[in-house]
Amino acid sequence: KKITIAIDGFSSTGKSTLAKQLAKHLGYIYVDTGAMYRAVAFFAMQNNLISSDSFNKVELVNRLKDILLEFKFNSDLGFAEMYLNGDNVEKDIRTIEVSGFVSKVAEVSEVRAKLVEQQKEMGKNKAIVMDGRDIGTVVFPDAELKVFMTASASTRAQRRYDELLQKGDVVTYEEVLKNVEERDYIDTHREDSPLVMASDAVEIDNSYLNREEQFQAVLDLVNN
Ligand code: C5P
Repeated sequence: KKITIAIDGFSSTGKSTLAKQLAKHLGYIYVDTGAMYRAVAFFAMQNNLISSDSFNKVELVNRLKDILLEFKFNSDLGFAEMYLNGDNVEKDIRTIEVSGFVSKVAEVSEVRAKLVEQQKEMGKNKAIVMDGRDIGTVVFPDAELKVFMTASASTRAQRRYDELLQKGDVVTYEEVLKNVEERDYIDTHREDSPLVMASDAVEIDNSYLNREEQFQAVLDLVNN
């Protein structure tokens, strides 16, 4: 039986690692909705619609129709990569700059409406693992399995910091922690679809679980 699996939670809880592993194991499609919000933020940055002291929301909303988001499967990597208007932006969307703007962009109702519609369409045949913030509450309220992942801010910041260092980004742990905390705040306080755990979701606090333990815990839920 093919099901829909919604994985939500705070940033850097290891959602995407788990979701990817699960999709691969089950032969399901994996969709990283954070990549879509990040691509819109990158578009806004490229077009000078957002900077550290300004955000032209009206113009971003006007130009949403010019934004084409696509996932294309990369068979070497074993997962899909994000394309913005035909360009592979997988690297561009993971920078600390984009992380700094993405939650502001994700607060805009028109941005959410566009992306949620596209996400619903991608899930219409089930057999999908989708990760994000509002998947179990807004995108797939009827998902057969909903997982909500949490971990302390410091655990998450350390994880994101290690990732950024590995890529060669120049950042400090304090910067990353500040970004994680800022995004948590904006994500949980926005008017439209704030980050909350769905009432029927299973919470996994992974501060003390390693990747394999998390994967096993969720796989048990899939099989039961
Ligand atoms: O998952 P990731 O950290 O890449 O997501 C980046 C940002 O995109 C989040 O901090 C959040 O502001 C936004 N987002 C969202 N809804 C989703 C996925 C991501 O608002 N479904």
